Amino acid sequence: MSDIVEQEKLLDCPFCGATDEGFHLQASQSQDLAGNPKDWSVECDECAGYGPTAPTQAEAHAEWNTRSAQAKDTEIARLREALEKCRVQFRFYEQNHLAKYAPWDLELLRKGIVNVPAGRDAYEKALTNAEFAEMCEATLTEKTS
Ligand SMILES: [Zn+2]
Repeated sequence: MSDIVEQEKLLDCPFCGATDEGFHLQASQSQDLAGNPKDWSVECDECAGYGPTAPTQAEAHAEWNTRSAQAKDTEIARLREALEKCRVQFRFYEQNHLAKYAPWDLELLRKGIVNVPAGRDAYEKALTNAEFAEMCEATLTEKTS
C-alpha cells in the first residue's frame, strides 16, 4: 500500500507559527524498535512540534490541520477576551477621569473655550482612554477570516 497521496496544504504550526514551505512541516514515518514502519505524523523542524500520529500520511496531514485550526480558534478567543478586558478598563479610566469635573466644566472642556479649576490633565487622560477603548471596540467588531 502506498502512502503517496495528493497532499493538502498544511496549516501553520500551532506551536511556533512556522508555515508550510516544504521544509518546515513534513510528514514523516516513525519506526518501531525492529525498524518496521509504524505510523505517520507531521513534524515541524522549527520547534520539533509534531503529531498527532495516524496510520497514513494523509490522515496525519488531516489531524495536523484539524489541531492547527482549533489552535487558531482558541488563540482568537483568548485574544478577544483580553481585548474585551482592555476595553472595559479603558472605559473605566475614562469615566474615572471625567468624574473629576463638574458637568458644567465638562461642557466647557468639550468646547475648548475656557480653563477649569481642575485643569485639563484628567480631561486629556479621559480622551486618551476613550480613544483606546474605541480601538478595542473597532477591533472586536471586525470580522475574523
Ligand atoms: Zn513549530
